[in-house]
Amino acid sequence: MPDCLFCAIASGQIPAKIVGENPRTIAFRDINPQAPTHILVIPKKHYVDVAAMAGAEAGLLDEIASLAHSVAADEGIVESGYRLVFNSGRHAGQEVPHAHGHLIGGRPLSWPPG
Ligand code: AMP
Ligand code: ZN
Repeated sequence: MPDCLFCAIASGQIPAKIVGENPRTIAFRDINPQAPTHILVIPKKHYVDVAAMAGAEAGLLDEIASLAHSVAADEGIVESGYRLVFNSGRHAGQEVPHAHGHLIGGRPLSWPPG
């Protein structure tokens, strides 16, 4: 079992509600949803945050954004709109040190964030 929670989810060792997958990426429902749609889109390989991921593999961040959009389409929230957020570091509230985009939508979202 890997030390990292999201590595364990990506390898199927910890169960999650998977809603989409590509060769290098996987999307699953957040266990504590903050909106009607709240899905995490992650690289299967371990990178500590979005900058590390984008710097390491060409096209990987594109694949995350594309998978997020295709899951948003499946959720029926493309027309109403959605947010794709990557928390990086302490002030942003990143709790899991494995890069992940939060796909959030299904209700109006406040801006700016608190
Ligand atoms: P962050 O604070 O940006 O690191 O986001 C981590 C997210 O992971 C939070 O929204 C948590 O609710 C979510 N989370 C933690 N454990 C799990 C899990 N086992 N399955 C799905 N989502 C999880
Ligand atoms: Zn990991």
